Amino acid sequence: MYSDESKILETVQDISSTIIAENTEAADRLARWPERNIRSFQNEGLGGLTIPVEYGGLGHGTKVLAKVCESIGRYCSSSAICFGMHAVGSAVIASKATDFQQEKYLTPICEGQHLTSIALSEAGSGSQFYLPQTSMQYHSESEYKINGAKAFVLNGGEADSYIISAVAEGSDTPGEQFNCFMVNADAVGLQWGERWKGLGLRGNSSRDLFLNNVKIPDKNVLGQFGDQIWYVFNVITPYFLTAMAGTYLGIAKAAIDEVTNHIKNREISFNGRALASSSVIQYQLGCLWAKYARSRALVYYATECYDMDQGNALIDLFSAKAEVADAAIEIVNESMTLCGGYAYREKSTLDRLLRDARAAHVMTPTTDILRIWTGRSILEQPLLADT
Ligand SMILES: Cc1cc2nc3c(=O)[nH]c(=O)nc-3n(C[C@H](O)[C@H](O)[C@H](O)COP(=O)(O)OP(=O)(O)OC[C@H]3O[C@@H](n4cnc5c(N)ncnc54)[C@H](O)[C@@H]3O)c2cc1C
Repeated sequence: MYSDESKILETVQDISSTIIAENTEAADRLARWPERNIRSFQNEGLGGLTIPVEYGGLGHGTKVLAKVCESIGRYCSSSAICFGMHAVGSAVIASKATDFQQEKYLTPICEGQHLTSIALSEAGSGSQFYLPQTSMQYHSESEYKINGAKAFVLNGGEADSYIISAVAEGSDTPGEQFNCFMVNADAVGLQWGERWKGLGLRGNSSRDLFLNNVKIPDKNVLGQFGDQIWYVFNVITPYFLTAMAGTYLGIAKAAIDEVTNHIKNREISFNGRALASSSVIQYQLGCLWAKYARSRALVYYATECYDMDQGNALIDLFSAKAEVADAAIEIVNESMTLCGGYAYREKSTLDRLLRDARAAHVMTPTTDILRIWTGRSILEQPLLADT
């Protein structure tokens, strides 16, 4: 098993530029979950990317996760976010795993036999994913009964387990009372909604999930009661932000590749000049690169600080994902202008990238919420002040 960063990135690049690149168009056109791509990463031993070495994983943190998602996202954003969400879930389980959870989930994840995902969002709480209305009540001495509905569950119906949040029944302060726990894909009482066909990131198999009297043993609860805010701000949010930021960086880079290629090859026959010889075009390409390089530097810096447990890393992670979201959308949009009518057509690469990039502002923590959290952090105010 390899854990060296450069070897991992080399493997990811190899898979992305071959297997994944072949499936990108079909994943987008058919809104098809990229099974072969995800299995390729698992088969190459990357399933346990974010799981500590002592549990059998590769022991990497957010910085390598960002680079992996960036590398995949350059070829297929759906594959990047699907693999990224598995890596987020793995880190969440590993952060306070019991012996049982280690054996049941982490070992098979590291062996490439188990895919996990995260089901926190609900229609009733929207972007505020830390306010679930799904309820849990004691069913017996060591078992809970769960009722509720989750929305936009990525890898929905494809993963082997899901990390779900629920609030203790009867609680009137849900933001402070919910817990996360593992639900296995074959649990009785799970019912999947239709596959959601998004504008972009179409291959991610996002679905509604209904939980009707689903019984889970108390050994599936993650951490202790009262740990929920620790989970939200110490693992879920940092890893979530990282997987998304990496994916959108990949989209931005793909757009720059596309526009560079177009400019290099476009010749105007009436005067025999190449588009690449125009100073205005050169200047605009330079501006796009600066936006990309600036947001990439912030993502790498923020993730490194987080991995090294340095000071206020979270505030930079908030800004990193918000900045990448702005940058990716602007870069793809401007690339479309620079590629002219060639790109402004159905099924062009930039058509897909523009639709994919547009998810950046709405996937939670959304850009709006991240800007607010950043401001509150600077002002030393509670982050969840309005809940
Ligand atoms: C492609 C995709 C994949 C997803 N995958 C997953 C997944 O795997 N797991 C999961 O749990 N969820 C997932 N989600 C859900 C997602 O992360 C969001 O929770 C969801 O998109 C929120 O949508 P909404 O329509 O309810 O937004 P709303 O909450 O209605 O928000 C609408 C707008 O209002 C703003 N807003 C809302 N509340 C506030 C506030 N308090 N302050 C400032 N602004 C605010 C938001 O920023 C947003 O711009 C996914 C979503 C998408 C689009």
